[in-house]
Amino acid sequence: MRKCLLVMFLFMNSVCVASTDNINSKKLFTLVRTVCKDIRNHPEKFVKELGGIVYVLDGEYGITKPLLGEKDKFFAKVSYPAKAKPIATYHSHPAMDAFFSSTDKTYAESTGLISFICLVDEARLLKYFPKNKNIMAAS
Ligand SMILES: [Zn+2]
Repeated sequence: MRKCLLVMFLFMNSVCVASTDNINSKKLFTLVRTVCKDIRNHPEKFVKELGGIVYVLDGEYGITKPLLGEKDKFFAKVSYPAKAKPIATYHSHPAMDAFFSSTDKTYAESTGLISFICLVDEARLLKYFPKNKNIMAAS
């Protein structure tokens, strides 16, 4: 299985990115909600950022398990199935910051990937859509 490596907030292979023009927001939220629950149950949720990606494969969405990043940035090599194309990223803020940092926004805008933040202290998540710079909250 060929793996496409993605290093969030540092480098990613833009060839692998899928279009976000016809995304199913409801499906996307449902998927991210499940991993946010894993993050909220993670023993290091207040210590380090956790994150991963959502990808499209044969028209279906898939999501990678949360990986540990750093204290104040998410930096990890995320691997996903061959032929899958990333559509979104998600990560948490251990300091409970309920907003997208300028780094978060710049990354989303430069890659075209939708960005999610899982709030570690409550069952809520934020979505940043880079195309229209729209921020949305959902529980
Ligand atoms: Zn962030």
